Amino acid sequence: MMIGCSDTIMECKEAQKLVTKYIADDITEQELEQFMEHIQICKDCYDELEINYTIFSAFVQLDNNEDSSDDINAMLLEKLKASRKYIRRKKIFNHYRILIYIAAMIVLAMIILVQLGLWL
Ligand SMILES: [Zn+2]
Repeated sequence: MMIGCSDTIMECKEAQKLVTKYIADDITEQELEQFMEHIQICKDCYDELEINYTIFSAFVQLDNNEDSSDDINAMLLEKLKASRKYIRRKKIFNHYRILIYIAAMIVLAMIILVQLGLWL
């Protein structure tokens, strides 16, 4: 563990284990949220992500025979931006989930009432 990381939600050891999972998109929502929080405040783990992502991208590009002139850093930033957006949307959804649930129930009740009204 690095100095300055001990007060974070997730420990560096944990975060660094998630680096490869994050790159491979093999990460749970909860892990993703904690991971994103951690790398936002922990330079060491962000560097770890950057290095791993660079290596990963180089391999993918070798595999696909693609032009490696793509800016890997920009690609990583895009990926992080998408993750942040995803988490934000998820949070908003969780916040309104009960309201959505109630609305769905009302709609369902109305459908049932209409059906009953047609049959009775
Ligand atoms: Zn860290």
